Parts: sequence; C-alpha cells; structure tokens
Amino acid sequence: MDKFSVLAVNRHRMKNDGRGITSLVALAGCPLSCPYCINRELLAANRISHMTGEELLAQLAIDHCYFLYTGGGVTFGGGEPLLQSRQIAAFAELCPPEWNLTIETSLAVPEELLAPVLTQRFSFIVDIKAMQPEIYRSYTGKENTQTVRNVKTLVETIAPENYVIKTPYIPDYTGESEVAASVRLLKQLGVPEKNILTFSYIK
Ligand code: SF4
Repeated sequence: MDKFSVLAVNRHRMKNDGRGITSLVALAGCPLSCPYCINRELLAANRISHMTGEELLAQLAIDHCYFLYTGGGVTFGGGEPLLQSRQIAAFAELCPPEWNLTIETSLAVPEELLAPVLTQRFSFIVDIKAMQPEIYRSYTGKENTQTVRNVKTLVETIAPENYVIKTPYIPDYTGESEVAASVRLLKQLGVPEKNILTFSYIK
C-alpha cells in the first residue's frame, strides 16, 4: 500500500471538521488552483511526511480517549484528500471502528478516486465552490463536469446524515444570485436543502 503524503496533523479541533474532537490530517496535493486558497502556504511549503497507515494511526491514537468521549475522530483534508483515497480506505480498516472518519473534499477528482471511500464508514464535507461551469473554471482553473457527476454519485450513495455540501460566497466570483443558483442546481441533483450550507470566504 502506498504511504500517505502528509502536510500536517492538527490535534484537538472542535466544530469545524466534523463531530466531537477531531484531528485534522492535511494531505498533500490538490488539482485546483483557487486564488483564495487558505492552505496556499502549507501546500507551497511542501514539507511532506511520508508515512504508512500504521505510522499515522500510532500518531493519532494519542487522542483515542478524546475521540471516544466526544464522538470525534479523524478528518482528512488538504489539499485534496481524495488524491489519496486508497490510503484512507486502508486506514479505515486499521483504526478503531468508534472513530468518526470525515473527508473534507472538493470532489474534483476522477470517479476512480471517489469509489474507494464511497461507504457509510465515512462522512463528507464537500466544498463545491460553484456549480456554474464558467464561474468554477474562472475560480479553480478546472472544469466541473466530473465534480458535478461526483456530487450526484455521493448523494445517491451516502446517507444524508453523513454529508454536507457547502456553496460559498467568494469575493469577486459569487454573490447572492450565484449562490442561490448553485443551491438550486444542487437540489436538482437530489441534495436535500438541509444538507446545503452557505458561508463566506475571506479574501
Ligand atoms: S481546493 Fe482547497 S486546497 Fe485546493 S486550491 Fe482550492 S482551497 Fe486550496
């Protein structure tokens, strides 16, 4: 099994990354080029630790009791964690079943990379950026055809209590009407309204 390429492990997080107390594992690499990337410095510094699933588990296990008592666990973010989805799926087999495993993703990956983690073992926090192809292209530098397909697959597969889809207000890119249009398009794909969150990026 390939090793994880890890940028950072951030312990004792609450509220932002899933249920309970979580440790955020920031994984290296991202296919998008968002101008307001909050992880730009981390990604650019490229200080990567390569570790096996067992090594990562040993590092995270220090917080086992916090995870158990709060219903928390581990959140894989990045970068784009689905670039390392096979390692994440293998990690899920190793770690205690009580740990919540959450994936924070843009879903901007080929479907083969989504498939290994498309099980009820995982929760998903998806930042969709924008559903409109032209806005998405201008903000991320990529097309969103596959991303939209992945949203549909996720919605058809994962229980609604295990995912949220965020559509942000992005300064200079999306305002009220663009976010409202994204919400409409997400609903057309079958995303329940309560699973759609709007929030604002800070420039
Ligand atoms: S998807 Fe996330 S990590 Fe990747 S460039 Fe955009 S903001 Fe940065």
